[in-house]
Amino acid sequence: MKTVGTFEEVRDLAVGPVSFIPTMGFLHEGHLSLIEAAARTRDTVVVSLFVNPLQFSEASDLAAYPRDLDRDLELAREAGADLFFAPDVAEMYPSEPVTTVTVAGVSEGMEGDHRPGHFSGVATVVAKLFAGIQPKRAYFGRKDAQQLAVVRTMTEELSLPVDVRGMPIVRESDGLALSSRNVRISEGASRSSAAMLSSALYAAGDAFDRGERRSVSLRSIATGILTADPSIDVEYVEVANAGDASPIEQIDRLSFLALAATIDGVRLIDNVHLDPDTGLADRGTRLDAPSILYGRSDAADN
Ligand code: AMP
Repeated sequence: MKTVGTFEEVRDLAVGPVSFIPTMGFLHEGHLSLIEAAARTRDTVVVSLFVNPLQFSEASDLAAYPRDLDRDLELAREAGADLFFAPDVAEMYPSEPVTTVTVAGVSEGMEGDHRPGHFSGVATVVAKLFAGIQPKRAYFGRKDAQQLAVVRTMTEELSLPVDVRGMPIVRESDGLALSSRNVRISEGASRSSAAMLSSALYAAGDAFDRGERRSVSLRSIATGILTADPSIDVEYVEVANAGDASPIEQIDRLSFLALAATIDGVRLIDNVHLDPDTGLADRGTRLDAPSILYGRSDAADN
């Protein structure tokens, strides 16, 4: 694996088609599952690490974002990356950008309402990465379901020749969806409250598996479980069309039940995807050992 800092180097060194995984680093098994999926193709696997200032509204949040480049390089290499693109801010934004990408509609509601400007920052950086790297395929986690809808819509409407692939959520062994922020949740009571997020989604997923298709019922099952725990500060529980992230009342197409909540000062998001064609909720996969977020372990291979 080679580490580079400019788009030109990526294009010069990539041989044949490129499979691309954009990240903000501090890698965990969720990121690694995307890299491993890309490595199963015969493509050149390019991983990017860029903590994108445009998608943070608070400077303090940006400054607090966890970083460990050496650790990320090692993990990406082991997972099968060929090129690691770690540009500095000057390569990505030589000056304050006056050209930005806004995906109307899809960026509204849920995360869009709670993090103004966030999805415009995401769409702009992903458009730049797609233009500069020119991948054939790009891998994104379903963990960020609305982001995936924003990226798919942007890619299609701008006619970018990239196959955007959504991949299953990877969870810790207690069900908590992996996130670089999980390291900030304290052990004990807060941790058990965090695990309730997935319990709430799973309970609603069970009802979906049994045939429930009304969003209002699924939301009330999840909300009932979350509000029973006073340390969970719920922001939203919504059911949305997976394609355009619009609210949906009756689940007659691929959708997701998504939530955001704050526990112990840490904001977490999670979802289950609901597919009426298979009749099953997709809960993702679980690790059977502690995540590499808490120190290196063999869990990286799962
Ligand atoms: P981030 O570094 O948080 O910007 O995430 C980079 C990519 O990894 C995005 O496509 C995320 O959706 C994906 N990702 C983050 N957490 C998970 C997870 N637990 N399971 C699967 N994919 C994930």
